[in-house]
This record gives sequence, C-alpha cells and structure tokens, in this order.
Amino acid sequence: MEITKEHITCWIKKINEKIAENKCYLTKLDQPIGDGDHGVNMERGFQATVNMLETTSYDTVSSMLKACALSIMSKVGGAAGPLYGTAFLRMSLHVKGETIVTEKMFIEALNEAVVGMKKRGRTEVGEKTMIDVWAPVVEKLQEDGALHASTIIQTAKEARNKTEHIAASKGRASFFKEKSVGYIDPGAASSYIIFEALAETLEEGACQRG
Ligand code: ADP
Ligand code: MG
Repeated sequence: MEITKEHITCWIKKINEKIAENKCYLTKLDQPIGDGDHGVNMERGFQATVNMLETTSYDTVSSMLKACALSIMSKVGGAAGPLYGTAFLRMSLHVKGETIVTEKMFIEALNEAVVGMKKRGRTEVGEKTMIDVWAPVVEKLQEDGALHASTIIQTAKEARNKTEHIAASKGRASFFKEKSVGYIDPGAASSYIIFEALAETLEEGACQRG
C-alpha cells in the first residue's frame, strides 16, 4: 500500500470532523487537570488546517505534511500545538524527496514523529501526556510492519484509557500531581481521535468511497 496526498487530506479532514464533534468532551477533560482550552485549541487549529488544504495545492506528500505542521503549530496553540506540529514536521522530513510513500516508510515517519515529540516535550512514556498514546501505537505498528486499522484503534483506545491511572509529571496537569489520577489526559484523548481518523482513512482507501 502507498500513502498519498489524498490519504493525508482525508486524515486531516476526519481529525477536524471528530475534534469538532468532541470539542466539549476535550474541554471537559482539560478542566479538572488543566485550563479547559484543549477542545477550543484543537478545533481552531484543525479547521484552519482544513481550510488551508482546500485552498492550496501541493506537489508531494512531504510538502503537504509540512504545511499542515506549520498550520497546526501556529493555529492550535497551547502545549499541544507545537507538539502535534512537531509530529507532522518530523513525518514531512522523513518522506522528503520521496515520490512514493510506502506503508513501511509511513510507519517509520510516525516513529520519527514520536522521537520528535518526546524531544520537544522532554517527555517519556508514563507521564500522562499524548506520548502515552503515540508511543504504544507506533511501537505496535512497527512490530506488525503494517498499518492495520483495527489494531490502531484498539491500541490507541487502551492507551488513552490507561492515562486515567497515571499521575501527571509533564504539562499543566503535573501541577495537580497525585490529584491528576482519575482523569483521562486531554492530549491522550485528542491523540486517540487522530489515530481513529487515520484508521478510518486507511479503511476507506483515502475517502475514495465518499
Ligand atoms: P495547555 O496545557 O497549554 O493548555 P492544551 O490544553 O492544548 O495545552 O494541551 C494539553 C495537553 O498537551 C496535555 O493533555 C498533554 O497531553 C499535552 N502535553 C502538555 N505538556 C506536554 C509535554 N511536555 N510533552 C508531551 N505532551 C504534553
Ligand atoms: Mg489546556
């Protein structure tokens, strides 16, 4: 399988739709252990990114991912914007110069995204952040050597739910220390949405059927 510009457009559009549907849910998660802006930040940023994709054309998957990265970085804001922006920028760099992006290459690009996010956030697994979803999902994809939609959704969901039992040591939630236990991390919840959107994109063959 090959990952095309159509896959990326479909992925971003699906993220945007799902974020809009879940804006209040994300905001509610960010209220007790943060400042309640995660839903608003994500909606603003991904809507701006979809608008950009609809009005600009791109030569390559890499240039499209880079444009998404810059938009997400500047328009999402908060802690999540620069981190998600870094993810897309790392993916863009990994596939730079490639005319065909294979499944294997895309998995490597996702792994580069995790490396970049960890570095940017100075975060490891187990700190109650979005990394707690990205790292296990990408690890599983590397193990499988393939992009299986159902595996992506299942791994991401389990990983998101696990963050409820972790005491935060990074980001705003870390101010609450042990009191952050009992709440799903908002960034882990939005990362689940990002992977659910990716899985659906892969299942539908880049939205070719609709
Ligand atoms: P802010 O905390 O600035 O209000 P958001 O509410 O948009 O930003 O995003 C919060 C999410 O960002 C958290 O739930 C967490 O998943 C993620 N996050 C915060 N700091 C870090 C970090 N250092 N590394 C990785 N993820 C982080
Ligand atoms: Mg916040």
